[in-house]
Amino acid sequence: MLFKTLCEYLEKLSLTSKRLEITSILAKLFKEASSCEIYETVFLSLGTLNPQYKAIKFNIADKMMVRILSKAYTIPERDILKKYKELGDLGKTAELFSESFVKQETEVLEVYQKLKRIAMEEGAGSQERKVHLMSMLLKSLDRIGAKYACKIILGTMRLGFSEITVIEALSWMEKDDKTLKKQIEEKYRIYPNIGFIAKEFKENGLFGIKDIHIETGVPILSARCQRVDTAKDIIKRHKTSAIEYKYDGTRVQAHLDRNKLSPAPLVKTFTRNLEETTNMFPDIVSAILDSVKAQSAILDCEAIGVDPKTGEFVPFQITIKRKRKHNVKKTAKEIPLKLIVFDILFYNRKSQIHLPFVERRKILESIIKESDKIIIAPEIVVDNTNKFMEVFNTAIEKGLEGIVAKDLTASYTVGSRGYAWIKFKREEKGTLEDTLEPVVLGYYRGAGQRAKFGIGAFLVGVLDEKEDNFKTIAKIGTGLTDEQWVRLKRRCDKIKLLEKPKNYIVPKELFCDIWCEPNILTSIRADDITISPIHTAGYALRFPRLVDFRDDISTKDATTVQEFKNLYKLWKK
Ligand code: AMP
Repeated sequence: MLFKTLCEYLEKLSLTSKRLEITSILAKLFKEASSCEIYETVFLSLGTLNPQYKAIKFNIADKMMVRILSKAYTIPERDILKKYKELGDLGKTAELFSESFVKQETEVLEVYQKLKRIAMEEGAGSQERKVHLMSMLLKSLDRIGAKYACKIILGTMRLGFSEITVIEALSWMEKDDKTLKKQIEEKYRIYPNIGFIAKEFKENGLFGIKDIHIETGVPILSARCQRVDTAKDIIKRHKTSAIEYKYDGTRVQAHLDRNKLSPAPLVKTFTRNLEETTNMFPDIVSAILDSVKAQSAILDCEAIGVDPKTGEFVPFQITIKRKRKHNVKKTAKEIPLKLIVFDILFYNRKSQIHLPFVERRKILESIIKESDKIIIAPEIVVDNTNKFMEVFNTAIEKGLEGIVAKDLTASYTVGSRGYAWIKFKREEKGTLEDTLEPVVLGYYRGAGQRAKFGIGAFLVGVLDEKEDNFKTIAKIGTGLTDEQWVRLKRRCDKIKLLEKPKNYIVPKELFCDIWCEPNILTSIRADDITISPIHTAGYALRFPRLVDFRDDISTKDATTVQEFKNLYKLWKK
């Protein structure tokens, strides 16, 4: 397929916000792509080159793209800048300046390879090489091609869909309906490489993806916790429940494979959002190699910082200082991590996710040699509310945020919030027990007192996983310190958009003055959740207050509409 053809589909996608229409356009695109180019087609349509866990960054910012356009079209940088300011989008700027006479014959695969090469350039002189390669590529592309090549590189495609819609489109491609979605999604949850799945599926349908299994080195979508509002509910659901402390650290999925040598055995760690973090955690890597007695294993864990002087756990804000790419050794010394292992998903070449928790736990206990670097999460099995509350109160006295109750009979709920795991946190009277993590969608310029900051309120929304869009739940105008207002405005301005993205479902009366990309995650507390005729989630927060910004997790972790509705039901019980 020509890159131009792909771009024509992308253009059609950019003109609609209707999910059914998006799905149908994608299905046609995937039908037209051959099986040797579907991997590349899928990722390019998502505006990337690879799955999250193998992400390669272009490291090309706006300023550099202005230079690239200047070089490609031999136009002074100031003229490019002027047009960019007018249009607000470098893709559109490239479209405008590119030569109308170029007859583009470049194939999708060729463009993909060239983009990959640009992304992989690193080291001394790499910036110059990137400028050269990209300007050459732009010269060979026609208007629409130049527009989308720029957007892909800058990460500004914003077509308003994610892997979930791609999965549905694959089903439509094959069956003209969504009946295969469930089976494809099941594979995606244990092997979240949507390009690879698309290829296998395109070649041989469901038969083609039958043999996709859990593999070391490829992260699995993590299980999530549900909430209930009383201890009685937990006992009612689980009958007997294994109670573990809820550690306030960072989730780590650790992979070990002593049969995969390069030349050392494979050890990798991933976040809950499928990002690889191995290089950040040399202490976890050595703890896994030293203490896990298995040929291969995938472990679900929480890593938490320890004060080297007192041996006590450090607060969450300190632990996440370990999530950095520079000065890794020094920070590892200052804040050593303890790995608390609470589940095993794969052991000696076999998936364990279908085993009941009690059996998975037995395997864990037989293969982990505990040390000051790695332990198995202590658990206490309870079958009545009195005993439950005793354990819970001990957790609170120890300064932990709560407990996670685990159903001994349940299998591992890959990538979803099931009642197999129930979190139960400290209660704060008169307010919602738990914080919510909505996303900032945009802000309103201030009036009166706050006009001096240029921001007076901001709009937050939750993620609708089914419809693949964001719905509003609150406009927040209080509870921030002056410094937080300034910081929020600065962050929003950095990622501001010219218009409301298609996948923000916002009522007219709540339209923001400035829209931004859904990249700022907040932690919000409120007094109540009420039914709302205005907010598009159908419910709204009463007296919402900002607790903090959450820099440690990505927007894929945002509270979902489904969770929000669930919370409403709990609150109203
Ligand atoms: P939340 O983010 O509030 O939904 O809580 C779920 C998170 O709690 C998980 O993603 C883990 O990072 C963390 N966690 C801490 N301790 C445990 C535990 N014992 N079992 C499962 N998750 C835990």
